Amino acid sequence: MAQILDGKAHADRMLAEVKTAVDARVAAGKRAPCLAVVLVGDDPASHVYVRGKVKACLETGVRSLEHRLPANSTQAQVDALIDQLNEDAGVDGILVQLPLPKGLDSKQALHRIAPAKDVDGFHPMNQGLLLEGLPGLRPCTPSAVMNMLKAYGFEMKGKRAVVLGRSEIVGKPMALMLLEEHATVTIAHSRTVDLPSVCREADLLVAAVGRPGMVEGSWIKPGAVVVDVGINRVEDLNLGTQIFAKEPKKLETLKTKGGVLCGDVRFGEAMEVAGAVTPVPGGVGPLTIAGLMMNTLQACEARS
Ligand code: NDP
Repeated sequence: MAQILDGKAHADRMLAEVKTAVDARVAAGKRAPCLAVVLVGDDPASHVYVRGKVKACLETGVRSLEHRLPANSTQAQVDALIDQLNEDAGVDGILVQLPLPKGLDSKQALHRIAPAKDVDGFHPMNQGLLLEGLPGLRPCTPSAVMNMLKAYGFEMKGKRAVVLGRSEIVGKPMALMLLEEHATVTIAHSRTVDLPSVCREADLLVAAVGRPGMVEGSWIKPGAVVVDVGINRVEDLNLGTQIFAKEPKKLETLKTKGGVLCGDVRFGEAMEVAGAVTPVPGGVGPLTIAGLMMNTLQACEARS
């Protein structure tokens, strides 16, 4: 039976670390870090994510400012708000919650954020620093995953790592961070031939695809460490019956509640083969928010 990597517990430790540093700043007469969150439109999932981020701010003593714009805002209005936050000396971090409503250009908005306040680590300047292996603000999900893997004592040097997914948010930065730790890294994606064989080579498999239960137990090398970044809601009973064959509780929730959250990896199958696995929920999700708090503190300390 694989070890369950408790992302929630590790995230709580990261949040406690941020709180200690924030308290020390305040005790020394400095101001608390401040995160400005920009939420455009009414996407219900975005509201849930923003609530989670604001809650983490409250827990750590980070000040949070919420800026809401209506769904019919123009790009110029979004840009103007970002400019205002860039110039505001009291704001350390700016987060534009994605996705933006149709008609707005996310990349344009993200590139407008001052790199020093880019706590999501999506600005090309910060991505470039990561590519060069230099310090900067790094994307929250992969940096928090690395933080947890190190805390669990997993040696990455010389190991075969496979990252499933090549997004700028997760897959590519994750691969760079693993490379930095001297893993031999393969990035797989939708055009990769024979994904199961590629995955079976991995001592460390990171799945960031957004396809519920895509990674089957037979894709996993015995003893591998499996990090499941995917967050998917399954409502289809036929699909659920297939992917939750080894997770009766999930199948039951799907039947009784009409939907259930799961990752890209078939957790029940992975538990029988892998050495360690992150669950969904309670794995990478809480780590991402903890990574954001770490970045906000880092941005604040770099500025004052
Ligand atoms: P994207 O949609 O941007 O990228 C998905 C990647 O998966 C792409 O590179 C795509 O390949 C690849 N892919 C899609 N389908 C297949 C397939 N059938 N076979 C192989 N590769 C495939 O997603 P993100 O990286 O933003 O997110 C991935 C998942 O992680 C989502 O479920 C998202 O909700 C979740 N997520 C979770 C976070 C957390 O905090 N836990 C944070 C961020 C994301 P190609 O490039 O060829 O199209």
